[in-house]
Amino acid sequence: MSKYLSERLQAIVPYTPGEQPKIDGLTKLNTNESPFPPSPAVIRALNSDEVGRLNLYSDPTSSALVDAIANRLGVSETNILPGNGSDEILAFCFQAFCDEAHQPAFADITYGFYPVFCELFGLTPQIVPLRDDLTIEPADYTAHAGPIFIANPNAPTGIALELPQIEALLQLDRIVVVDEAYVDFGAATAVTLLPKYDNLIVVRTFSKSRNLAGARLGFAVANESLIEDLNRIKYSFNPYNVNRLSMIAGVKAMEDDAYFHACIGKIIETREKTVSELKRRGFEIPPSKANFIFPKHPKLDAKQFFDALRARKILVRYFSSPRICDRVRVTIGSEEQMRLFIKATDEILEESRE
Ligand SMILES: *Cc1c(COP(=O)(O)O)cnc(C)c1O
Repeated sequence: MSKYLSERLQAIVPYTPGEQPKIDGLTKLNTNESPFPPSPAVIRALNSDEVGRLNLYSDPTSSALVDAIANRLGVSETNILPGNGSDEILAFCFQAFCDEAHQPAFADITYGFYPVFCELFGLTPQIVPLRDDLTIEPADYTAHAGPIFIANPNAPTGIALELPQIEALLQLDRIVVVDEAYVDFGAATAVTLLPKYDNLIVVRTFSKSRNLAGARLGFAVANESLIEDLNRIKYSFNPYNVNRLSMIAGVKAMEDDAYFHACIGKIIETREKTVSELKRRGFEIPPSKANFIFPKHPKLDAKQFFDALRARKILVRYFSSPRICDRVRVTIGSEEQMRLFIKATDEILEESRE
């Protein structure tokens, strides 16, 4: 830290992304990426002469991408705002709708970036603890006046709310941001509620279910005036927020519905198989509607489990915070990756018995 850094920023604890180590033969199950490559249509399109146009700025309105998303979701173009990852869209939401009198509310156990945005933007979040079974109870939010941020399915639990529960939040008549990073793996989307609620913002990403984490693409779905509000931030910060190559990748990925469904179908199938394998070995796992699971074992210390997996070149995620330090978060990878994970788990369980 230099002596020139603003005093306010000196206190910030930045977000810690999952490790991206360069280890040969690593089984990487720590950042909820897809184990599958992007759609073949994406790969073909990026070999095109778009690279030769990188001397020119990208389309600030992202109109080709907006059209592709709107078509796929069955909403109007005026309901969509693409961003540089959904993290950027979430940042816009905190900036646009939160202030001293409208402090954001979110769960104690949820996406770790929400509290970081609060620090960065000088907000004081109102933390609403999950119930003992790690579920979100909408009624717990009635006491708070500000915008509500819900990850659905939640991370790192994988547990999803049903739409009537989302509606209960929307009926509180404040901005409700539903972060649907993992919705394609089996939860119900709140996009269908859009015609009914002018306080709903759905945030989606291409990083998890569309195999494009490295492209940095996300988007907001909301009514036209909320999209206008978010555009005020975007055009005050980074008008060309989606680059040319990612724009093309996003359009092609949105259009290739068959590949998308094949990939998420495979992940869901592998998740269910992994869950039943782990349960047979005594693990407890909350019902996951995401591309990760959050197991704990009565006889395994989670940090030791994490370390023992890492020693076997299998990387999962461990969180040291009090209510969840007895679990690890495991991304659902390919069938082969999960076979390696189960095999290593068996060895570690065996050792712990000795
Ligand atoms: C991964 C993730 C995001 C961020 O996605 P990007 O589009 O890659 O920025 C947002 N919210 C949740 C809950 C996530 O897990």
